[in-house]
Amino acid sequence: MTETDIRDIVIIGGGASGALTAWNLAVRHGVTCTVIDPSERPGFGLAYSTPSLQNLLNVAAKGMSADPDDPDHFLRWLHDNAPGSVAPGEFVPRAIYGLYLRNLYSIAAPEHERQAAVACRRLDRGFEITLADGRKIHAGRVVLGCGHFDPARLPGIPPELDVTGRYRHNAWAERVFAGIAVYDEVAVIGTGLTTVDVLLRLRENGHRGRVTALSRRGLFPERHADYTPLPAPVFTPGGIEPTARAYLRAFHGALKRGADWRAAVDSMRSVTNALWLMLPDAEKIRFQRHLLRRWEVVRHRMAAHIADILDQERRAGSLRVLDGRVTAIAPDNDGLTITAVAGEEEFSLRAAHVINCTGPSLKYKRVDAPLLHDLFEQGEIMPGFGDAGLSCTPDGALIDHAGKIADDLFVVGPARQGVLLESIAIPEIRCQAKEVAEMLVNGNAP
Ligand SMILES: Cc1cc2nc3c(=O)[nH]c(=O)nc-3n(C[C@H](O)[C@H](O)[C@H](O)COP(=O)(O)OP(=O)(O)OC[C@H]3O[C@@H](n4cnc5c(N)ncnc54)[C@H](O)[C@@H]3O)c2cc1C
Repeated sequence: MTETDIRDIVIIGGGASGALTAWNLAVRHGVTCTVIDPSERPGFGLAYSTPSLQNLLNVAAKGMSADPDDPDHFLRWLHDNAPGSVAPGEFVPRAIYGLYLRNLYSIAAPEHERQAAVACRRLDRGFEITLADGRKIHAGRVVLGCGHFDPARLPGIPPELDVTGRYRHNAWAERVFAGIAVYDEVAVIGTGLTTVDVLLRLRENGHRGRVTALSRRGLFPERHADYTPLPAPVFTPGGIEPTARAYLRAFHGALKRGADWRAAVDSMRSVTNALWLMLPDAEKIRFQRHLLRRWEVVRHRMAAHIADILDQERRAGSLRVLDGRVTAIAPDNDGLTITAVAGEEEFSLRAAHVINCTGPSLKYKRVDAPLLHDLFEQGEIMPGFGDAGLSCTPDGALIDHAGKIADDLFVVGPARQGVLLESIAIPEIRCQAKEVAEMLVNGNAP
């Protein structure tokens, strides 16, 4: 092994999590790291590499600073770099946010290995990382920022369906819209923000046919609207019974006392993870089963302008929303027949194309990722609660199969959903990136 193969801090994944960790290391600590990512231009990751200016952030510009200590950082960047003026309450295109992340990545100027990491072996000191081209790197400490993977396969939809060219398993695949004619009937599975993205992209590409969205509850995310923020969360971890029912009751109590629902939901952001960590496992399961989807619909809201487009489409009948769990999809000569179940009733519909919009998978044990399989096999990482993400401490130190907390292997980003409820969006990732950088340099969180 040559000397240049030895790196101190290596980040695997160059999306938002990797870029922000590299940026914190560089600007706060003057430390340069290595980022491994197959992308030619890291920084964007899945969410911010959309080319569409129609795909907007679901958080207003004033909430998207990369620096938790400098809330106006993104607004200043926009002022200096984007044409025209952007109001703090505006929802800017995700593509623009991608340029911001890319800019921060460039400032950090990490060494970039343009490869996927396929294995990571613990040595007596540090790790040996194998790249897809067979080269090996020796790393002192490793941060996993691997983020999102292809959606999980749905029961009743075999992989062979992909070869028909009519079923798209991954809504973010490069050529997902190829072959869809202007008036083709399209069905999408899911009614979350991925479906919103896909509908807007279809229309942007000139598609005029009817789109049918199917999901268990047929609920789209709610819309953003102005409100006066509450001075404090509507309830806090102290003095509340740690049960899903008690949380629901406390929340409803605040609404009954007159709190605006959006203000109440957003007031909880700073205490969500603390409340989640207090819940015993059985209560977490209860929350996930009965409340999570309802919470997500009010918590992950869409910009009002986008909600207007959806309402218009629904009124015009060009967007149809059906309650139903898809149980099977079968190809025929010129399309697909979708079978779904709503309550006790089974029904079917036809479409020329189906796009799976169920969102990226965080069930890391099941995703197609040699690096993760390798780490699972060695017992260096374990799945998190409910098989989501990875088992780690709330501040991102990974926990191995024997329950040992690593001091040289960390995770930033969505994979922390193995322990936290909120770990996907920028307001959490920016704090995680700052804290992990601090731990890597000084050995303790700020
Ligand atoms: C469609 C969408 C819209 C969103 N909108 C918002 C929003 O408006 N506001 C907000 O706050 N949050 C939003 N989020 C959440 C959010 O910002 C993301 O969760 C965040 O970008 C996660 O970044 P990441 O780097 O962890 O993961 P990713 O973006 O998935 O990036 C991971 C990177 O790791 C690389 N990688 C994976 N495995 C390996 C490997 N073995 N070797 C090398 N590289 C590897 C991948 O190539 C990729 O580049 C959105 C998320 C999605 C999916």
